[in-house]
Amino acid sequence: MAVQQNKVSKSRRNNRRAHDALVAGNPNECTNCGELKRPHHVCPSCGHYADKEIVAMADEIELDEDAA
Ligand SMILES: [Zn+2]
Repeated sequence: MAVQQNKVSKSRRNNRRAHDALVAGNPNECTNCGELKRPHHVCPSCGHYADKEIVAMADEIELDEDAA
């Protein structure tokens, strides 16, 4: 393992980390429902991509207590 030759000062370390901040994503508006979505991804709220329905969204999920 490589071992550093000199102590890195707090200033130098912090200066190096000045560029490490995470940047926020760049969401697009869905053309179908207007919800914010990740670019080049299917809209998570309506399942559309490029004005086509890719994933059918279930309206309701019936949770029947007596079933099973
Ligand atoms: Zn949508």
